[in-house]
Amino acid sequence: MDQITRKSLLYKSNLGFWCINHVQGCSHGCRYPCYAWMMAHSRGRVETYSDWCRPALVSNSEELLSNELRRMRVRPETIHLCLTTDPFMYSYPEVTALTLRLTEMINSFGIRCSTLTKGIMPVELADPERFPGNNIHGISLVSLDEEFRKKWEPGAAPYHDRIGALRELHEYGCRTLVHIEPYPTPNIITQSLRKLLESVDFADEIWLGGWNYNDLAKKYPGYKEFYEEQSAILNRFLAARKTP
Ligand code: SF4
Repeated sequence: MDQITRKSLLYKSNLGFWCINHVQGCSHGCRYPCYAWMMAHSRGRVETYSDWCRPALVSNSEELLSNELRRMRVRPETIHLCLTTDPFMYSYPEVTALTLRLTEMINSFGIRCSTLTKGIMPVELADPERFPGNNIHGISLVSLDEEFRKKWEPGAAPYHDRIGALRELHEYGCRTLVHIEPYPTPNIITQSLRKLLESVDFADEIWLGGWNYNDLAKKYPGYKEFYEEQSAILNRFLAARKTP
């Protein structure tokens, strides 16, 4: 696997939370398109889409993060992994191993981690002695249709495996989250949000967001009403879970 070095790792994102990205690029190669790929391309960090899909590990991540955490006067409650790459990149054990070491380091400073992946969450995260940070683990999931995944998230983990790994963490008592974004309109794929929700019923949190990366969703007549309807379905589903 390629390696690069960086001058810093930990930063506060424009979204207002702290995060780290210890890999450049992402083999999942999402075609919505991926916002991180567009930014990396426009800033000249990566030339082509195939370069983007060949990830490079930030080899000095541990050294950088350790120094940055030590220097912080006010430590944040949570650090997010990751905004511009995937922390559990499918079929890249080197990425998963580094993510686990960095998570362990962050937890050792009394800081919780939140993670979001389209890969496979490793079961090691359920070990409270190694990861005492009450971390929250999330998957990104917008469909259950493998043909959709192959077209739009070609390098990401199959949905069944992605859900199964998160479910296992839930069964071990970890806090879990599902991020349904960018949810496609019916001109992209016809599917049932209800079925998707039922497949992740165990998750502590479920979030829904629209397909905002290109104009495809807006081409669907009544797309605003469609998203209002999907939000109502989610709200009813979450309300029903609370009712004993
Ligand atoms: S998983 Fe995330 S970072 Fe990776 S290509 Fe897809 S959207 Fe981009």
